[in-house]
Amino acid sequence: MKYVGPHVSAAGGVENAPVNAHKLGAKGFGLFTKNQRQWKAKPLSDEHIRKFKQNCEQYGYAPHQILPHDSYLINLGHPDKAQLQKSREAFFDEMKRTEQLGLDRLNFHPGNPLKKISDEACLKTIAESVNLALDRTKGVIAVIENTAGQGTDLGYSFEQLRFIIDHVEDKNRVGVCVDTAHGFAAGYDFASDHGYERVWQDFDQIIGLHYLKGMHLNDSKKELGSRVDRHNSIGKGYLGEEAFKRIMQDERLNGIPMILETPDKQLWAREVELLYGFMNE
Ligand SMILES: [Zn+2]
Ligand SMILES: [Zn+2]
Repeated sequence: MKYVGPHVSAAGGVENAPVNAHKLGAKGFGLFTKNQRQWKAKPLSDEHIRKFKQNCEQYGYAPHQILPHDSYLINLGHPDKAQLQKSREAFFDEMKRTEQLGLDRLNFHPGNPLKKISDEACLKTIAESVNLALDRTKGVIAVIENTAGQGTDLGYSFEQLRFIIDHVEDKNRVGVCVDTAHGFAAGYDFASDHGYERVWQDFDQIIGLHYLKGMHLNDSKKELGSRVDRHNSIGKGYLGEEAFKRIMQDERLNGIPMILETPDKQLWAREVELLYGFMNE
């Protein structure tokens, strides 16, 4: 089973996200549990939590079909002590909110050394940040998203993701989300037949397929290895429809949330339909 759906709006309350996903014919969805561009948010009220769970049940969304995304402000590898502490507190809050909603995974961007510390020191700091959050929460897997490697962003190679995992104590509560546009920009060739097989072979050898806890299905406006993060609608970028056909027909990728972060929300319902259509071709 594949759980495909867009990263939907939770405006007006988290309980609206499953309703919005259902309207698009989605079998999975992504969401922010707070405003992604602000540090602070009001705690989730019991009423919002209750309604969220109720709507998820009503529309058939189990935890493993849902992938919340953390705030863009957080840098778990920040070289400055005070700033790192701020990010760690915010990340803990995100993990806690995920736990309160009864969900089992949270997607996050690894971090950036900002040219102040080595990549290795930054990756170790990220892992320690994850350890601290896992200690203070229950049942939520911290899911590291691969990046495009734009600027000095880390987490663009499978080796770097593996390095973080190696330094996380509870291996049962760490995972990876593969964003196809980020991977492609970082040099992973999802677009060709040969390249596609190679990507997953590498992933399995270096990280291990059992760590795959989600995907972001995005086409790319930029070329292979461009290191530039620009999402495009499915089939309209350099990955093309064939890449997504391979993904939808690939049984190794079953059972995880597959979230669209494509730019044109008018197309979301059609993209979901298109992707499910690929399964039968
Ligand atoms: Zn992301
Ligand atoms: Zn993504």
